[in-house]
Amino acid sequence: MQRLVKQTLAIKGGSPVRTKPFPAYRTIGEEERQAVNRVIDTGVLSKFLGCHHPDFHGGSEIQALEKEWAEYFGVAHAIAVNSATSGLFAAVGAAGIEPGDEVIVSPYTMSASAVAPLVYNAIPVFADIEPDYYCLSPASVEKRITERTRAIIVVDIFGQPYDAEAINAIARKHNLIVIEDCAQAPGARLKDRFAGALGNMGIFSLNYHKHIHTGEGGIIVTDDPVLADKLRLIRNHAEAVTGDWAEERPEIAGFTNMLGFNYRMTELEAAIAREQLKKLDSLLEERIDNVEYLNRELGSIPCIEATPVRPDAKHAFYVQALQFDSETAGVHRDVFIEAVKAELSPIEKRESEGIGLSVGYVRPLYLQPLYQKRMAYGSNGFPWTAEFYKGKVDYSRGICPVTEKMHFERLFYHEMIRPPMTRADLDDVVMAFAKVWERREELS
Ligand SMILES: *Cc1c(COP(=O)(O)O)cnc(C)c1O
Repeated sequence: MQRLVKQTLAIKGGSPVRTKPFPAYRTIGEEERQAVNRVIDTGVLSKFLGCHHPDFHGGSEIQALEKEWAEYFGVAHAIAVNSATSGLFAAVGAAGIEPGDEVIVSPYTMSASAVAPLVYNAIPVFADIEPDYYCLSPASVEKRITERTRAIIVVDIFGQPYDAEAINAIARKHNLIVIEDCAQAPGARLKDRFAGALGNMGIFSLNYHKHIHTGEGGIIVTDDPVLADKLRLIRNHAEAVTGDWAEERPEIAGFTNMLGFNYRMTELEAAIAREQLKKLDSLLEERIDNVEYLNRELGSIPCIEATPVRPDAKHAFYVQALQFDSETAGVHRDVFIEAVKAELSPIEKRESEGIGLSVGYVRPLYLQPLYQKRMAYGSNGFPWTAEFYKGKVDYSRGICPVTEKMHFERLFYHEMIRPPMTRADLDDVVMAFAKVWERREELS
């Protein structure tokens, strides 16, 4: 440590703290291979039928996965789909969102959670985030409610559960549906409930970058049997099924968003997901240990603040987010983090992505061309300009000051918390930050 701190910063030509890649995060092994082979041996890679038939619900792996997932997360229904993006779209459809309705969304999340309302010609309205936990701020949500608001899409960002107590109370008061994007939070909890089970519907992702994965995939959970059936219809060609189903299920007959898609997951992914679910607990505990260690070590560097975990919550740490105080450091966050990156090496198998450390997260979503130019469908500003939309939504810079401050000034995050990172690997991360802190004058 001392020896390295005495060296010139790598960004100024000195030798870096680390050149050997960090270990790859690999959760796929022999269990998944056997699961896939079990499906291959049957030759039935998907069993879904898009009509009124028992196979409307998919094959044996899909049905077993849905049962196991629902049991694990303590919910009545799990519906497997081909991505969390599909799951978010299906949830907005099942919520009965109509053209011209408003849906409150977060600006600091993966783009799909904000886009979902537009699929049903509804209008995303951005509320600001909490300055400490980065989830939707209940006070800001309340300010954005109008007579057109029908739902809130909350996000358990970075693995931190949203403020379910406050936001669910607002939703009850205004009769709104809560859709919980828990793509980054499998295994997170608030009190005795899992993230995903905190709102009316929760959406998990099984894409390659998530805690557990099937390449691509998603799962929606809900306790509401009617929402569950609507989700199954949207997953699998609703229009071809509702007519026959309506006689036995009158509550489905009045379903307003009757356009079905093909959001079906295959038997192969379902078989892999069943094995991945068994690994979630231990993978999560390792992440939590690593973050606790790094929070202590990095948090003792004066210009870095660890992110707190919400009281009564368990955080799932999709990534580790921290805050940077430029005033204390005497250099801007971006300059400091660039110098830290120069001290570190990429993560194995993801070398092309560079160092697993970034300033900010996503640009506040309302700054994307989609919202700035209002071009979702065609070139005439539909659906914002359509006669069914009576509101006036604002997407100008400045509407979410906390988000902008986090993104442009304070927040940074990294992925070097994933198993099988060892203490020695973590110590290299700490050393890179400590070295840049000690020698920060070289940067100004
Ligand atoms: C990954 C992610 C998604 C999308 O997941 P896909 O399965 O790739 O569609 C949605 N929301 C959040 C917060 C995510 O991190």
